[in-house]
Amino acid sequence: MSLVETKVSSLFINGEWRDAISGQTDTVVNPATLEPISEVAYGGETETHNAIKAARDAFPEWSSMSPRKRSRILYKAHQLMFDNLDRLAEILTTEQGKPFKEARGEVKSAASFLLWYAEEANRVYGEWIPSSQTQKRILVVPQPVGVVGAITPWNFPSSMITRKIGPALAAGCTVVLKPAPETPLSAIEIVKIFEKAGLPKGVLNLVTGDAEAIGNAMLTNQDVRLITFTGSTEVGKHLMRESADHVKKLSLELGGHAPIIVFDDADLDIAAKMTLASKYRNAGQTCICANRVYVHESVYDKFSQKLLEHVAALSMGDGTEPDTDIGPLINEQALQKVNDHLEDAVSHGAEVLYGDSDWQSDLGGYFFPPTVVKNVTNNMKVMNEETFGPLLPLQVFNDEDDVIAQANDTVYGLAAYMFSENLDRSLRVMEKLDYGIVGVNDVFPATAEAPFGGIKQSGMGKEGGHHGIHEFVEQKYVSIGMH
Ligand code: ADP
Repeated sequence: MSLVETKVSSLFINGEWRDAISGQTDTVVNPATLEPISEVAYGGETETHNAIKAARDAFPEWSSMSPRKRSRILYKAHQLMFDNLDRLAEILTTEQGKPFKEARGEVKSAASFLLWYAEEANRVYGEWIPSSQTQKRILVVPQPVGVVGAITPWNFPSSMITRKIGPALAAGCTVVLKPAPETPLSAIEIVKIFEKAGLPKGVLNLVTGDAEAIGNAMLTNQDVRLITFTGSTEVGKHLMRESADHVKKLSLELGGHAPIIVFDDADLDIAAKMTLASKYRNAGQTCICANRVYVHESVYDKFSQKLLEHVAALSMGDGTEPDTDIGPLINEQALQKVNDHLEDAVSHGAEVLYGDSDWQSDLGGYFFPPTVVKNVTNNMKVMNEETFGPLLPLQVFNDEDDVIAQANDTVYGLAAYMFSENLDRSLRVMEKLDYGIVGVNDVFPATAEAPFGGIKQSGMGKEGGHHGIHEFVEQKYVSIGMH
């Protein structure tokens, strides 16, 4: 039996799997082989409005259900994800390209959000505020926001979904989910898991297809009260602008341009290993991955030598092969962007320290080899724009204040990392970095129990932690007069 059906009725509206009204489909392609995997429904505005209506109709019952009951469904879905771990990971690798071991890790992480929010569902507390007037009582009552539109990217096709729908469902919201067109298959599997877990019809709906049309329906439909989005800053800004008419709530996880700072008092073995992991995980297609690395001049040679030893050991190939460390990029556009950043850097004087600027793939898919450049300057694209690929620029620094200023000199503010064994310096620098997330001797900050999110043009709102569920909750203030 093949992994997925060759044609999938991928619209899940009011508990029923359907095709697009037009009958149109979209092809999902394996980025490692360029072979088609499956045809999914190409839905648009009408299908999305239908899904929103189903979510609105399901809201009264779901939101008034006891949190314990909602929690039980989330626990069940968490368990089912683990029961199907290898299959889910295989589907993920096939449509997205990341190595199978990373895909397994992602599915586990995706499941962990369901577990965490199964627990948090029971802890959305209200408040009783002592009134300044003796004949009054003040209550704050938390209530779910309503219908949520969730738009997710292709780089983490599984965990970006559960990180949104986990807290939304736990809070009592109903959802219309739009996954990235490149990776709808993981989304379909997750929705099927919720169906099996006993989620009532209409509570979670799935629309695949025309991104702009689906987005437009979410933006223009009064019933969508919150849009939760992970993706590019450009699309995030569009959603923000177009949400103004209905004053929708927004939770946005947008682009980043993460610096790594390696101080002279760093443990260089750890710094080199972690820099490698941050940059080359998911072939560099992670919003929090290292985009630029600043190394203190006194440790530059040692650090770069250690880093290059690790880079040279990476094996690139089809993610389904057991030895693969780096899979393909997601599509042709992504490949062109990394090429463009490399060419731009080299033409402005950067030197290729590892890799080959004339490299041609004979692997068939959208492959780009791990590459390291040095002698980079701040006018290069790679130092300013998200590369989203396995290209790593190294820059030398010699002054703490200067390097902090350089690290902060970006419109983005998602994640920044620093390596130092000095506690005073770590605390001092951490406080001055203008980022929503700072990793001190750590490049894996994303975890279900912690609040993930950016500042500046990297977005607003938090995902994960007890904070994450509050994005989906309104605080109703109740003033009670006693006469
Ligand atoms: P990337 O460049 O990483 O693909 P995008 O921001 O384009 O990032 O995509 C993230 C998600 O946003 C995907 O699900 C994509 O289909 C969706 N998307 C893209 N354009 C729009 C739009 N105009 N309205 C709503 N969603 C959109």
